[in-house]
Amino acid sequence: MAGKIIDGKKIADAMLEAAKLRVAKLSKKPCLAIVIAGDDPASLVYTKKKHDACARVGIESRNVKLPASASEKEIISEVKKLNSDRGVDGILVQLPLPDGIDEDAVLSSVALEKDVDGFHAENFGRLALGIGKIAPCTPKGVMHLLKESGVSVSGKNAVVIGKSRIVGKPLALLLLNEGATVTVCHSKTRDLATHTRGADIICSAVGKPRLVTADMVKEGAVVIDIGTSKENEKLIGDVDFEKVKEKAALITPVPGGVGPMTIAMLIENTLICHQNRK
Ligand code: NAP
Repeated sequence: MAGKIIDGKKIADAMLEAAKLRVAKLSKKPCLAIVIAGDDPASLVYTKKKHDACARVGIESRNVKLPASASEKEIISEVKKLNSDRGVDGILVQLPLPDGIDEDAVLSSVALEKDVDGFHAENFGRLALGIGKIAPCTPKGVMHLLKESGVSVSGKNAVVIGKSRIVGKPLALLLLNEGATVTVCHSKTRDLATHTRGADIICSAVGKPRLVTADMVKEGAVVIDIGTSKENEKLIGDVDFEKVKEKAALITPVPGGVGPMTIAMLIENTLICHQNRK
């Protein structure tokens, strides 16, 4: 029997509509500043989507655009100006930064209470301890999709493929904090299929088309596809969707799965920062 497809767009739209109602009741509009250095085409598309989502729910957004030649010092100086700007509730530094810039140094220059992406080293540490207030948007979106789809994580075997700071690692921590038994796989993992075949929940965040094939998935598993790649100008995920959906109990499509949730969670995190600052 074909698995149920999780409609991430519908769940994200509902979250954005709820956020719009919350913002309408606020005496002062929250404000998100997005810092972007350079003209990476994908980053320009992502930041536009983020500004559009802010406009949709009534959050003010500022675009702080720096040239690709901006130095680390110049980027950090812009971030620091936003840190001390009382009118700004949240700061997002669009990744990737131009070559040669120390991402850790820039991300950890964002004031803790304005760190809407949750990438500051201290916020990451808090997440690891299970006492975080802000979790990175994409992994948080995955957890929300699981919850909205009625998947209880506690006690399940979860396999996360990918261990980046923005998706894989924080997602593994969130799943662990919710009581899953978590295995994290990466480029050096030997025999990925051995791990995925025992998983109740598979989350793939790599960016390699058809990395996860039907023979790697057990009957009735929940499959969350976070990866995105372009093939013949078409956006596709890491999972061989058509075949895996015949075995999975639940599966996210690409596009229309995790992607819209990332934006919805950014809005949620901006509202949390606004509330915490009040
Ligand atoms: P990343 O920093 O490039 O990390 C990719 C991870 O995949 C690394 O941990 C790497 O392992 C691992 N990997 C590479 N080849 C592998 C293989 N053959 N088997 C198992 N693991 C392998 O990427 P990212 O920023 O985490 O993003 C991951 C994917 O998610 C990308 O496609 C990105 O576009 C997508 N994404 C989507 C959203 C969304 O909103 N939908 C948001 C963020 C990212 P090593 O660490 O050992 O190198």
